[in-house]
Amino acid sequence: MTETFTGIPLEQDYVDLREAVAKVCADFPGEYWRGLEKNDDYPSDFVNAMTKHGYLAALIPEEYGGSGLPLRAATVILETIHATDCSAAACHAQMYTMGTVLRHGNAEQKQQYLPGIASGELRLQAFGVSEPTTGSDTTQLQTRATRDGDSYIVNGQKIWTSRALYSDLMLLLARTTPADQVKKRTEGISTFLIDLREAKGNGLEIRPIETMINHHTTSVHFDDLRIPASSLVGEEGRGFRYILDSMNAERTLLAGESLGNARYFIRRAVEYANERIVFGRPIGQNQGVQLPIARAHAEAEAADLMIQKAAALFDAEQPAGAEANMARLLSAEAAWNAAEACFETFGGFAFAREYDIERKWREARLARTAPISTNLVLTHIAQHVLGLPRSY
Ligand SMILES: Cc1cc2nc3c(=O)[nH]c(=O)nc-3n(C[C@H](O)[C@H](O)[C@H](O)COP(=O)(O)OP(=O)(O)OC[C@H]3O[C@@H](n4cnc5c(N)ncnc54)[C@H](O)[C@@H]3O)c2cc1C
Repeated sequence: MTETFTGIPLEQDYVDLREAVAKVCADFPGEYWRGLEKNDDYPSDFVNAMTKHGYLAALIPEEYGGSGLPLRAATVILETIHATDCSAAACHAQMYTMGTVLRHGNAEQKQQYLPGIASGELRLQAFGVSEPTTGSDTTQLQTRATRDGDSYIVNGQKIWTSRALYSDLMLLLARTTPADQVKKRTEGISTFLIDLREAKGNGLEIRPIETMINHHTTSVHFDDLRIPASSLVGEEGRGFRYILDSMNAERTLLAGESLGNARYFIRRAVEYANERIVFGRPIGQNQGVQLPIARAHAEAEAADLMIQKAAALFDAEQPAGAEANMARLLSAEAAWNAAEACFETFGGFAFAREYDIERKWREARLARTAPISTNLVLTHIAQHVLGLPRSY
């Protein structure tokens, strides 16, 4: 019997889960998402439906009210959502932040937050890593958390902190020991789980950033924000390492989303190419139309295999950095090439909002930039997989 990397027979790779998720997504057609875009509204009904069915708590262990599924199942959930008209961007952080919270959070933190997150009472949707001045050079981040008795005082600024206005909690990365006092630049950085409800207006301000997609991203400003010392996740100074667990989960999960996007574009392109008659024959009969779609399909299938491998390694608690990055790269490229093939196939109609192609095309572009840019994935592979000199 042919098996996936997770040991599941290939033809049984979460078939029931895919069907169940797609059924919920069917209640949220393109019209729903187009309506939200007019005012950059948050898809509360969609997020509530996903929460009600337990999909956002897929990775939370059963003892805390979640389903305790492996990362592979979570990537399938996101892939399925994105293969429909829907987008999980408003709620996917709830999954990838678990990479840090489950592995490095203490028993009290898990007991305090996980049941509420699983039930939907609490949202952990904000992941504060990026900063305006240091960009991809994460270890140089400037946000400081200074210990003061039973508290930390946080100062600095994050940028692109998506969903912060719709989240109760935020996973924050901040420097606790100045960079010139540590041996390695990855040291002296800590991770905090912050309660945004208490922080807002008390040293924390969140400002929305308008973007080309409905992504609810923000800049977050810390001005002497006092947080309890119990917000620290794991040991002080080791946060960069903890965040890498979230990042590998994030890259693999978001690769699932890109794969879903690729499948969406390929399906829509094939349907349209078969239906649209120009010069007395379906446009899909022309090789100029069909070959880019066929290539995108091959790329999507290859990306799928790398996602399965990355998820299997992560679930086995094996090093997954190289595979998570490659899954991210291959799926983002597959989605973008599929988006372009689909856009081209639809001709002028791709521009008409009612077809949803332009919206999905805009959304698919993000994967080549965030959470990590294509160049930075390639430099990781060059250095850590191939042993080439560090280029930055
Ligand atoms: C819509 C949106 C949502 C986001 N959500 C979040 C979020 O929720 N939380 C969060 O923390 N961040 C988030 N991000 C931030 C995202 O992770 C960063 O934008 C991304 O990592 C790139 O960083 P940067 O924009 O600072 O680009 P920079 O680091 O300034 O890079 C700019 C360009 O230069 C290239 N470059 C830089 N250095 C090198 C080098 N050494 N070699 C080759 N090329 C190089 C990059 O590849 C890129 O193309 C989001 C971003 C967007 C746009």
